[in-house]
Amino acid sequence: MPLDLSPDRKSLQARARELARGPVAARAAEVDRTEQYPWDNVNLLKEAGLLGMTIPTPYGGQGRAWLDAVLVIEALSAACSVTGRIAVETNMGAISAVMAYGSEDQKRMAADMVLAGDKPAICITEPEAGSDASGMTTRADRRGNRFVVNGKKHWITGGGVSRLHLIFAKVYDEQGNEEGVGGFLAIRDETPGLSIVKREPTMGLRGIPEAEIAFEDMELPPSALVMPPRGLNKGFADLMNAYNSQRVGAATVALGIADGAYRLALDWSERREQFGRPINEFQGLQWKLADMSIRLAAARALVYGAARSGDGGFPDMLLAAQAKVFTSENAIAIVNDALQVFGARGYSRNLPLERMARDVRMFTIGGGTAEVLRNVVAGALLGKKLPQTRDGWAKAADERP
Ligand SMILES: Cc1cc2nc3c(=O)[nH]c(=O)nc-3n(C[C@H](O)[C@H](O)[C@H](O)COP(=O)(O)OP(=O)(O)OC[C@H]3O[C@@H](n4cnc5c(N)ncnc54)[C@H](O)[C@@H]3O)c2cc1C
Repeated sequence: MPLDLSPDRKSLQARARELARGPVAARAAEVDRTEQYPWDNVNLLKEAGLLGMTIPTPYGGQGRAWLDAVLVIEALSAACSVTGRIAVETNMGAISAVMAYGSEDQKRMAADMVLAGDKPAICITEPEAGSDASGMTTRADRRGNRFVVNGKKHWITGGGVSRLHLIFAKVYDEQGNEEGVGGFLAIRDETPGLSIVKREPTMGLRGIPEAEIAFEDMELPPSALVMPPRGLNKGFADLMNAYNSQRVGAATVALGIADGAYRLALDWSERREQFGRPINEFQGLQWKLADMSIRLAAARALVYGAARSGDGGFPDMLLAAQAKVFTSENAIAIVNDALQVFGARGYSRNLPLERMARDVRMFTIGGGTAEVLRNVVAGALLGKKLPQTRDGWAKAADERP
């Protein structure tokens, strides 16, 4: 790997790899089969100091950089993508938003919960507001000295296992005027009005629930507001800024899965013989392996570069979007090719390739689809907001002959 990692980073990576190749790999198939959240692995991560690494030291974390988290997530995801995702969401996403925008009390509470093993849930998507998150209808109404939240979210990772929830809602003043999108903290089983409605039956990543969550007259004190609306678009901009870390994390899980699949294929291509020689002596497979390694190297460079761009803040929006689009799409191709190298065995549930193929498929969707992220890239390149907004589409439809 042509990377100048410091001795500290190499040792962190080695620690994560040891865990990944040992106990995490040993349980990955069972996690998939039973669809049970791997609490054992959470404890392993906790003991190894791999939860909440990016949390600043005054709050009990290690104040590590995004790249440190990325190295750990990549290593874990090569063995078990669910465990890799747990490492994402205990180091990036909701926790990083709270650590950036929260009050002292909020930061302490969130840090304590994550360091104790909670994977916070981030609640943005709604049945009618997916890619267009700004169309969310979950609302938080100011009523005297509290907010009353009503609405529904779906595809919330960790719904039913996560305790801490970072919930985005449109905030309205006492007169019913919209103030913009705000982010609130609530705790499952402690905040009345928050309920888990149902779990989605997913194609892959089955060890971590995706759930629909409802808020019915959920009352929150002002101290629950982490990201104030700050005018119509500012709270939403804060959310998107923080989300760049989650995007880098999602890209890293895809990278890790692809790397794991590639290594399995490389090894098998040496051991499997047909026509009296190892199958990697056939040029058709050599080129496949070469292409896989080229795609991996390019994806890794993009992901690491995006992570580094966030030193001292959040990763750059353009770099995070480029990394996620390229890595998620190429990871699908790499895993598919790796499965092909195994022939029929790759199609069997006795080997991890079919699980990897199901798991990796998610990453062009969750955390911003590849199409929407291409819009982000184009918008950044062209230096303008593109008309892929609700108003823009409605106008275009009206103007159609
Ligand atoms: C496993 C998983 C975990 C998830 N976890 C979470 C979570 O923890 N929290 C959370 O809030 N959400 C989560 N999501 C939801 C995810 O963020 C959304 O699925 C995603 O934003 C897309 O929304 P949608 O599914 O409604 O698709 P839609 O928005 O309905 O899109 C459908 C299709 O249209 C395309 N499309 C839409 N708009 C445009 C456009 N302007 N230009 C071009 N193409 C467009 C999309 O790319 C897609 O191909 C998760 C999703 C998955 C699959």
